Amino acid sequence: MIEINNIHKSFSANKVLNGVSLKLNKGEVVAIIGPSGSGKSTFLRCINFLEKPDQGEIVIGGIRVNAQSATKEDVWQLRKATAMVFQSYNLFKNKTAIENIMEPLLVVQKMPLLEARNIAMDILEQVGLADKRDSYPSKLSGGQQQRVGIGRALAVNPEIILLDEPTSALDPELVGEVLDVIKRLAEKHMTMLIVTHEMRFAKDAANRIVFMDDGRIVEEGSPFELFSSPKNIRTAKFLNDVR
Ligand code: ATP
Ligand code: MG
Repeated sequence: MIEINNIHKSFSANKVLNGVSLKLNKGEVVAIIGPSGSGKSTFLRCINFLEKPDQGEIVIGGIRVNAQSATKEDVWQLRKATAMVFQSYNLFKNKTAIENIMEPLLVVQKMPLLEARNIAMDILEQVGLADKRDSYPSKLSGGQQQRVGIGRALAVNPEIILLDEPTSALDPELVGEVLDVIKRLAEKHMTMLIVTHEMRFAKDAANRIVFMDDGRIVEEGSPFELFSSPKNIRTAKFLNDVR
C-alpha cells in the first residue's frame, strides 16, 4: 500500500498543489487526468521528491517521509522505492536496449555484470523486446523505445512506477504496444500511477481514474463511473471538452 498525504507545493506565489492525497493498493493502476497546468506532473514529481513538497507525507513500503523533516537518507530511500518513466524516454543514445536496462543495476545497485545482464534479459522478455537486445535507441520505434524506458524502470524492482504521459510522444498506432506492456505488468501486481491526456488509454490501462483540477483531486472513481457519469461539474466539463 502506498499513501500520499496532503501534499502542498508552490512555485513562488503560484500555489500548484493544494493538499493532494491518494492511496494506492499493491498492483493497482491509477490514471491521473486533468487540464494542462492543473499540477499533475508536479504531483508525480513530489512523490519521489524530484520536487520537494512544501508540506505532506509519503508512505511507501516501510518508508514514511515527511516533507518538512526529510533527511537525505529518506529521499534516497524514496528514490529507491520508486521509478519514473518520461514522455521523452530519456534513454542513453550510445547504449543498446539491454545496456539501457542494465544501467541502473550497475550504477545504482552496483550489481555484478552477469547478474545485471540476466535480469535485463528477463525484463526485455517482459516488455517484448528480447530480439532487440542489441539495438541502439535510434534503430527502435517510439513504442519500442518507450518499452525500453518502462523496462529500465522495472529493473530496479520499485514499489511503484510513476509514468508521466508515457504515450504522448507516440504515433497513435504505437500506443497499443505500450498499453499491452502496462497491462502485463499490472497482471504481475506492479503498482503504477500514470499521468495521461489520452482518455482512451486511461480507460483501458487503469483500475481507477483521478481527476485533478487547480491543484486538487476533484473526483475519483472507476473508469466506468468517471467517464460515463461524472459527479462533479468540472470533471464533466473537462471530459466534454477533450472528447
Ligand atoms: P500538463 O498537462 O500541461 O503537463 P500539468 O498538469 O502536468 O500540465 P504541471 O507541470 O504540474 O502541470 O504545472 C503546474 C503549474 O506549476 C504550472 O503553472 C507550471 O507553470 C508550474 N510549474 C511546474 N513546474 C515548475 C517549476 N519547476 N518552476 C516554476 N513553476 C513550475
Ligand atoms: Mg505534465
